Amino acid sequence: MNIQRPRGTNDILPEETGKWQFVEAKIRELCRRYGYQEIRTPVFEHTELFVRGIGEATDIVEKEMYAFTDRSGRSLALRPEGTAGVVRAFVEHRLDARSLPVKLYYLGPMFRYEKPQAGRYRQFAQFGVEAIGSIDPFLDVEMIMLPIELYRACGLDGFQVQVNSIGCPKCRVQYREALLKHLGANVDQFCPNCRRRIERNPLRVLDCKEEKCRALVGQVPLITDYLCLECADHFQQVKEYLDQLGIDYVLNPQLVRGLDYYTKTVFEITVPTLGAQNAIGAGGRYDGLVEEVGGKPLPAVGYAVGLERLLLALDQQAGRYYEEPRPDAYVAHFGGVTKAKAVEIVTDLRRRGLWVEMDYLGRSLKAQMKSADKLGCRSAVIIGESELERQIVKVRHMATGDEQDVKLDQIAAYLTADREEHGA
Ligand code: AMP
Repeated sequence: MNIQRPRGTNDILPEETGKWQFVEAKIRELCRRYGYQEIRTPVFEHTELFVRGIGEATDIVEKEMYAFTDRSGRSLALRPEGTAGVVRAFVEHRLDARSLPVKLYYLGPMFRYEKPQAGRYRQFAQFGVEAIGSIDPFLDVEMIMLPIELYRACGLDGFQVQVNSIGCPKCRVQYREALLKHLGANVDQFCPNCRRRIERNPLRVLDCKEEKCRALVGQVPLITDYLCLECADHFQQVKEYLDQLGIDYVLNPQLVRGLDYYTKTVFEITVPTLGAQNAIGAGGRYDGLVEEVGGKPLPAVGYAVGLERLLLALDQQAGRYYEEPRPDAYVAHFGGVTKAKAVEIVTDLRRRGLWVEMDYLGRSLKAQMKSADKLGCRSAVIIGESELERQIVKVRHMATGDEQDVKLDQIAAYLTADREEHGA
């Protein structure tokens, strides 16, 4: 049997990479304007980092990690998300000595052993941003704004922003008690996963996707009623900034997120038309993580966007949202001296910055024109022996079929002018 790609992974074929590059270019441009610099961390880390950072009782750590032992007996794991690695690097390289907040972004593959379906993969790409070293509620709002600006810049609309505050460990003690008291009455009716969660980390129950559990949590006490003064005030300021800047959002007091490191503000952005996997981005504050990973107690906030889902949403909303680049010219020849001249012309044009294709299979002129068409070349440069004697070539405009004689030393200028006139 032929070997196929592992379940839950994707090959991004050449005709798809243009879309990715389009979104990646928007990301880099956005980060430049907001002052976030790129950081690249390893795709695998010590397993312990994720256990401590993301939380032992989370689905990601309990069930979804690609953890393995290397040949020296170390326990390593493919990163299931980007924040823990970025914070580890921040602490390891003492980035806290820099001007705070340190503003970083990353882009790259993440790995989770999840049940694959549309929009949910085992290897997926995330773009994420982290701002470490400030408690300013405006920074929480900046984190909500960044993905919104990205979606808009890509041409997406119809997304919804949900916001909540899950408080700090202080407020959660009381909330946990209230929640346990409430859940306790119905413990037996929850799914086996939730029954375990109730024992280990009851907040997780709010995140369960099972219909039965969702119905049971319907009337649970709300975390927002248990916030300490500081968290309540922080949340109030976040909402005021959101209102002041005219950002549309809904409050969802049951939003908890699947990672334990979050504190205070959490948010999720969804595209309802995407179906079951409709979250295209999410984030929040994580004021305890830097210390948890061995650094100073520094507050931080961040978010991550799932790029496959963003592209699915863009595809769904139809319309051409990015320009597919096309070759400037196809250089056609008839072998012999015309081929010798063709390689010279092709090389020269490429050095001058043009995208030029040619025939490598010794095909007929008709077949070469077909190739030029298929490749979407704007023009064909036809090199015939009799034209060569006159130091010219024929340039055919593929869309109209119009032909024109162009002097050999004028080809680059002619094609460049044509590209400027008819778009890249
Ligand atoms: P999380 O790190 O779980 O907060 O996820 C952040 C974003 O990454 C989500 O909103 C999704 O867009 C994306 N994402 C998370 N898990 C997957 C997955 N298994 N496949 C594709 N995208 C994912």
